[in-house]
Amino acid sequence: MIELKPCPFCGSRLVSYTHGVTRAPIVYMKCGNPECCAIVSFNNNACHLLPEKAIVMWNRREQS
Ligand SMILES: [Zn+2]
Repeated sequence: MIELKPCPFCGSRLVSYTHGVTRAPIVYMKCGNPECCAIVSFNNNACHLLPEKAIVMWNRREQS
């Protein structure tokens, strides 16, 4: 299992990963910091078939 990097918005490590099906497949990362609560989803069709792709995409960081 690949470790999730901290939230890019607030730096919190309380990041959860959800992969499920409601009305449509959905894959998203949610920040557990109550003052942030960022929710980030990626291409859900592609990530539903290959959930590891969502983790790789979440862990991407632009070099600045
Ligand atoms: Zn956050």
